[in-house]
Amino acid sequence: MKNQALKEIISFLAKNKILNQEKLKTAKREISKKYQIPFLRNEEIRNYYLKLVKQGKIKKNPFIESLLVLKKTRTLSGVSVVAVLTKNFPCKNNCLYCPDEEKMPKSYLSNEPAVMRAIRLNFNPFYQVKKRIEVLLYNGHNASKIELIVMGGTFSHLPEKYQYYFIANCFWAANSFDKKTTSRPISLKLDLTEIKTRLKKEQRKNASRTHRIVGLTLETRPDMINLLELIKFRQLGCTRVEIGVQSIFDHVLQLNNRGHSVKTTIKATRLLKDMGFKINYHIMPGLYGSSFKKDLKMFRQLFENENFQPDMLKIYPCVVTRNSGLYKLWKNKKFKPLTNNKLKKLIIEIKKIIPPYVRITRLIRDIPNESIIAGPNIPNLREVLKNKKVRCSCIRCREIGRAKPNFGFKTKPKLDRIDYKASKGREIFLQYVSARDNLIHAFLRLRIPSKIKTVNELQDCAIIRELHSYGTVAPIGKKIPETSQHKGYGKKLIKKAQTIAKKETRLSRLAVIAAEGTKDYYKAQGFRQGTFYMIKKI
Ligand code: SF4
Ligand SMILES: [Zn+2]
Repeated sequence: MKNQALKEIISFLAKNKILNQEKLKTAKREISKKYQIPFLRNEEIRNYYLKLVKQGKIKKNPFIESLLVLKKTRTLSGVSVVAVLTKNFPCKNNCLYCPDEEKMPKSYLSNEPAVMRAIRLNFNPFYQVKKRIEVLLYNGHNASKIELIVMGGTFSHLPEKYQYYFIANCFWAANSFDKKTTSRPISLKLDLTEIKTRLKKEQRKNASRTHRIVGLTLETRPDMINLLELIKFRQLGCTRVEIGVQSIFDHVLQLNNRGHSVKTTIKATRLLKDMGFKINYHIMPGLYGSSFKKDLKMFRQLFENENFQPDMLKIYPCVVTRNSGLYKLWKNKKFKPLTNNKLKKLIIEIKKIIPPYVRITRLIRDIPNESIIAGPNIPNLREVLKNKKVRCSCIRCREIGRAKPNFGFKTKPKLDRIDYKASKGREIFLQYVSARDNLIHAFLRLRIPSKIKTVNELQDCAIIRELHSYGTVAPIGKKIPETSQHKGYGKKLIKKAQTIAKKETRLSRLAVIAAEGTKDYYKAQGFRQGTFYMIKKI
């Protein structure tokens, strides 16, 4: 009976009678009812479809595959996230709230989901990337555009050789995934120069491979950021930096033993932006010495004060874990963490004021409840807030891929422009939004830098810091319905940025911080490879 039902639904799909998720749901309901079987799951349909393809009974159909994707959220923002963890090395700091578990990268707990995956693979970068690609493909995702996120605490604290070894192996894993390769894994026994050469080779290869790294994120502290460090980050292929800002008040930073000041954060932010990096701030409401009022003031400042203006935000509310300095203070009743209700209230207020050019990438950290001794513990915070119907203008809440089927595609998207001052320079945020519901199809961040010295090749350049098209991942070079990728928005946005830079500034060139996997795309738009950036005369 079930096989009959599966055959019927696949034949509907093959004949293009089901074109979106809503129709798929209706068909599943009707067919399950007709054959009196439990509601068909996408996983079952997909497995049956793959079996028929293997037997040569039907042709492979990327559109059917995109409709039957499991765990759809993984690729909703248009790229497939692959998060990997570096192994534990001593951290030079001792922040009050930081958990310190033996053999774990400091600040991580062994029962966090991402950490558990890394432990199983002995923190090996090659196997971590390979495994994630396998899982993505198994679940029906298209893993052709990978956003590689390297976690594990302060990347800048790791030994230099390990840094290059780790990233080189990530590239090697992506490159060798579905191609027989004669090259060997990059061993830590090689000397630094050899590892650097292998990294360069793998980066070059990646530009034309099936699994391209289209973004690379590294985590570090504001006081580790300087020109030399950022040049190294570019050599590694980094395009986005996550920095542990935690608070923008000096007395709170001091009380929590952070070891850096707000001035350092301001300086780091400016240098990062002037070198074209995207910035994701980690912010911790509820820290020792803060209060609800101060936290709210901090978020207002983040969006109003030009010294901050992050592109993305990870909100990690402070919690008490057993192996931290904060635990003692809490036990002695000297520290009271935020309550669940206070946190909800705070997030609602933040959502009301968040500018449309900021993306809230996280609202709470993935710490398992059993490890939280005290403090907010609502792992499904996003869901809880959804029920409160708070309107949030952040990028994530407006991504077209998250909208209901067909939403945002009824009217032609219009180009919208927002200018704002940031770190003594100017930011121009260009976005294609659907006129009726303000859903975002694609956007570009253009920076007119401030006047600090960075690298020579950026002299006289306006910088494209980010270009992103949303929707389900469209395979490179192909068009599928219900996606904004490959509809030409990227090209139009680059053109517009070029016109702005030419007409409104005295700059003569446009630079882009291109990840290895995006270089072919920018070449096709007239950019040429420089040392760390791709550059075009305007
Ligand atoms: S929070 Fe980061 S910098 Fe501070 S002690 Fe933990 S790992 Fe080190
Ligand atoms: Zn939002």
